[in-house]
Amino acid sequence: MSVAVIQARSVERLVTGQPTSDGAGVKLTRVLTNEWQQRLDPFLMLDHFGSAEASDYIAGFPDHPHRGFETVTYMLQGRMRHRDSRGNEGLLKNGDVQWMTAGRGLIHSEMPEQEEGVMEGFQLWLNLPSHLKMCDPKYQDIPNAQLPRAHPASGVEVTVIGGSVDGTAGPIQSEHTQPQFWDMHFHTEPATFEQALPMGHHAFIYVYRGSVQVLGGTGPQQVSAERMAILSMGDGLRLQASAGSKAILLAGKPLREPIAQYGPFVMNNRQQLMEAVEDFRAGRLS
Ligand code: MN
Repeated sequence: MSVAVIQARSVERLVTGQPTSDGAGVKLTRVLTNEWQQRLDPFLMLDHFGSAEASDYIAGFPDHPHRGFETVTYMLQGRMRHRDSRGNEGLLKNGDVQWMTAGRGLIHSEMPEQEEGVMEGFQLWLNLPSHLKMCDPKYQDIPNAQLPRAHPASGVEVTVIGGSVDGTAGPIQSEHTQPQFWDMHFHTEPATFEQALPMGHHAFIYVYRGSVQVLGGTGPQQVSAERMAILSMGDGLRLQASAGSKAILLAGKPLREPIAQYGPFVMNNRQQLMEAVEDFRAGRLS
């Protein structure tokens, strides 16, 4: 049930992530930083963490609050334990996904449960529309074995975390932002992948192994590893990649609402941010 792509998206901009640290000192690359929040609305942030050095991740992310958006954590390799003030607890292992809706707020910790070896994964922040920012928090662990795989072309395997590929729907579905979150693995060379995407949705890919060519209307454009390619508007995407390449795609329907962020709180205005800080200080987020 592939839909023909007429206006394939091109690379509008290539972005190199910023090395930074967060939590109690976890080294990571912030791929989607604040400056792209409007352009990539409804996506607020994307971090890529990956290291074989325990000192880069061992400190973890001790207790901290969130309000006003959702997080999707995709663990490629390693073990991380989540605990929150609502009594939820879960262990994220190789390939598992965690989907958390912070809504009006909670306090949680995300701590490595390993003292050596590789820890690698992604954390995405997905905005909520204004009328849902104060909704009840929700939390869901999706084990790797429950993530559906699509094979939209020869040599291409897509793990569908959110949205759908050729009718194969992933566990993360949201009516308001309609997020697509795909992990694309290219096994044979050259593997080509074409997929329709709603015209007005914001989209980007992030290559984390090998390199990917975006076959857009302006000709092939190369995206190498650890680069985010912001995609132009269009009704779909066409990608070609060498064997062993891996990339994630994120696409979603923009909310087009004001974005006000103060650290772990993302609301629509300054007043709401001050309320979030007050509520946190007064112990109302736990
Ligand atoms: Mn967090």
